[in-house]
Amino acid sequence: MGRYRYSGRIREHRVIAERALGRALPKRAHVHHVDGDGQNNSPSNLVICEDSAYHHLLHVRQRTLARGGDPNTQRYCPSCKQVVVKEDFYMRQSGPQANHPVDVCKGCSIERVRRHQGYFGEKRSRSKLTLADVLLIRASSCPVSAVAAQFRVSDTHVRRIKRGESWR
Ligand SMILES: [Zn+2]
Ligand SMILES: [Zn+2]
Repeated sequence: MGRYRYSGRIREHRVIAERALGRALPKRAHVHHVDGDGQNNSPSNLVICEDSAYHHLLHVRQRTLARGGDPNTQRYCPSCKQVVVKEDFYMRQSGPQANHPVDVCKGCSIERVRRHQGYFGEKRSRSKLTLADVLLIRASSCPVSAVAAQFRVSDTHVRRIKRGESWR
């Protein structure tokens, strides 16, 4: 609901937003409907977003609010449908969205990697860590020694993984 669609109606939003703004909208600008109703083009219902990333963020914040969360400290995960703290999302490392959180929470990200590895048939051996293990180790706030014991690797290995060094 209220999802941004590339339909013919967008022209109309833009025209109304431009009239309210008193000048042309930047090319990359998106028009957001506050109440989620794409038909309600009353100027008070329109928010001009500088680009699609900003528009996306608005929707993420609205979803978090709608679930009783605090959009400043929490974020809604569309995969497990829960509001979780922002720290529970991995950040994108590269690309145009670098330093923006990925769409799903850490738990769901790891779940996806696991499924992906299952698809390629990677088998878990005692000494070799999978990418999912590495993500779990990085996300863990348990003491290094406890994590090392859990994954049957050395403390040094765990520290190296947490520092983001090679883990193979
Ligand atoms: Zn919107
Ligand atoms: Zn999740």
